[in-house]
Amino acid sequence: MSKVLTAIDRSGSFRVYLTITTADCAEAARIHETSPTASAALGRVLTGTALMTAQLKEEEHRLTVQFKGDGPAKQILACGNGSGDIKGYIADPYADLPLKNGKLDVGGLLGIGDLTVIKDIGLKEPYSGTIALVSGEIAEDLTAYYYISEQQNTSIGLGVKVGTENQIICAGGMFVQMLPGAGDEPADALEAVLGEMKPVTYYAEQVQLRSAGKTEEAMLEEMMADMFGSLPEEYSLTVLDFKEVRWHCDCSHERMKSALATIGKEDLRQIIDEDGEAELVCHFCRSKYQFGKEELEEIYEGIG
Ligand SMILES: [Zn+2]
Repeated sequence: MSKVLTAIDRSGSFRVYLTITTADCAEAARIHETSPTASAALGRVLTGTALMTAQLKEEEHRLTVQFKGDGPAKQILACGNGSGDIKGYIADPYADLPLKNGKLDVGGLLGIGDLTVIKDIGLKEPYSGTIALVSGEIAEDLTAYYYISEQQNTSIGLGVKVGTENQIICAGGMFVQMLPGAGDEPADALEAVLGEMKPVTYYAEQVQLRSAGKTEEAMLEEMMADMFGSLPEEYSLTVLDFKEVRWHCDCSHERMKSALATIGKEDLRQIIDEDGEAELVCHFCRSKYQFGKEELEEIYEGIG
């Protein structure tokens, strides 16, 4: 479970979202048995999705963030909903690359490809936007997505620090959004602060080291002060709220059954005749679901 802090500056020119997602990224890495680079890649996508999910207005609103590339990771996909559930997977969790300039090569893991964001916010059709990957480093790509597809100026930072034992030391994210009608002065003041800022994992780790006895809310408030404390008084930040996000998969036997019913009568017949049983594995949480011959026949009969 993580929290997302939302804050607004005094002049109403920009909003800041912050989160520490260490526990959720560790959970994802454990479930998917990710390599170090894959842990960072999946964790960054999950953290970005957590920050975007916190901006959904209704519980039933959903979003999907999909990175596809020609690199060894092939695909990273994450979903979130307005009640704060997030989940995700990486097509090849074992894919790994040597360090590049001393850093995990997330961009190389994805390669050349694109990013698609699908938002289902209760309109007739879900909104979908696709852009070419800028670097495959995730935060830069999401920033470009907002600029190109949603005409919004944002500054996004996402980080996952992976230890030598392949453990998640810390993970966190920042999402800064200029609000409509904001002038040049607040933008310049913000830019000056962002220009001096260290990577988000630096702040997340510092706060984590001092976290004994503190609530998640207090930790995020400290992180906000560390990162944005040098903003001029007229643009100082006030916390608006904290939203909860958590790793959660909503798969079930019934849902998998419905999925089996969509593969087509012919294919299902083939599975029944050749294997006499089926095992489905959830992409997101790797739960396994078994279907015996009798149940497969029942699904077969149910297909019109
Ligand atoms: Zn699942």
